[in-house]
Amino acid sequence: MTASIIDGKAFAATVREKVAVHVARLKADHDIQPGLAVVLVGEDPASQVYVRSKGKMTTEVGMNSYEHKLDVDTSEADLLALITQLNNDPAVHGILVQLPLPDHLNEDLVINSIDPAKDVDGFHISNVGLLATGQKSMVPCTPLGCLMMLRNHHGSLSGLNAVVIGRSNIVGKPMAALLLGDSCTVTIAHSRTKALPDVVKRADIVVAAVGRAEMVPGDWIKDGATVIDVGINRIDAPERGEGKTRLVGDVDFAAASQVAGAITPVPGGVGPMTIACLLANTVTACSRANGLVEPEGLTV
Ligand code: NDP
Repeated sequence: MTASIIDGKAFAATVREKVAVHVARLKADHDIQPGLAVVLVGEDPASQVYVRSKGKMTTEVGMNSYEHKLDVDTSEADLLALITQLNNDPAVHGILVQLPLPDHLNEDLVINSIDPAKDVDGFHISNVGLLATGQKSMVPCTPLGCLMMLRNHHGSLSGLNAVVIGRSNIVGKPMAALLLGDSCTVTIAHSRTKALPDVVKRADIVVAAVGRAEMVPGDWIKDGATVIDVGINRIDAPERGEGKTRLVGDVDFAAASQVAGAITPVPGGVGPMTIACLLANTVTACSRANGLVEPEGLTV
């Protein structure tokens, strides 16, 4: 079997289009413009790239983007004061604190100081609890993007065997909760899982979120399974010239595409969906804050 490619880049464009339509409606019908505030502490180059690209896409869909760049040695008190100010600002509907934070800042404390209704990353402990108990919450962007692609590909996920490899708070655990919410039979695998190849082989859906280049070989994948590759790993690519690198996922794409029914590529799969879902969460948060109808198909 040769897998069909789940084109996250194209799908993300349709999600952003839906967001833009809803933003335009909020403006036209209610004179409301959704706003997303992104807080970056320090000058981590990768984080700077993410923040720039988030800001650009936010304005492209017609929302306000507020960027707050703080010195690397910003005190916890000053960061918490900024978050309080954003919590109280009616023009701000979503707040994202770019992670990781410098070591002297307590990430849990900072994230849990965000108003849960504005927590568009879905990392606040209240949102974690709401998601785990199947209640309406802000859903973390990467797993939300994965779920949207899976629903779009399969229609119903009910009764399918899903294996999530990785148990992080930002990807693995919320992904498992979402799949369970859609009535999959869910297994969460991690570094201590025994006989991982056998576990993966039983899966109709495999979500790989590990951070190890191409660790899932093709022969772990069940015939016809759907593979969602969350991993982003940079490896040397001498075939492209001296010193060149390229991005690969956690799955051996070439081998897995010979066996899977459908697979996301890296790049161009889960990555673009993550930012699209951040925008979706912001417009959802804005609609909820104003007691208005939520956009259809942009949240769970
Ligand atoms: P973490 O490092 O927080 O978690 C990795 C998980 O993988 C852990 O639960 C770990 O298990 C598990 N693991 C490690 N080694 C193995 C192994 N040999 N077998 C099975 N499980 C293993 O990573 P994240 O969840 O933050 O990210 C995972 C990947 O997804 C990364 O490549 C990251 O860059 C990417 N990512 C991509 C995003 C996107 O937008 N596309 C967004 C977020 C992340 P244990 O708990 O036992 O240590």
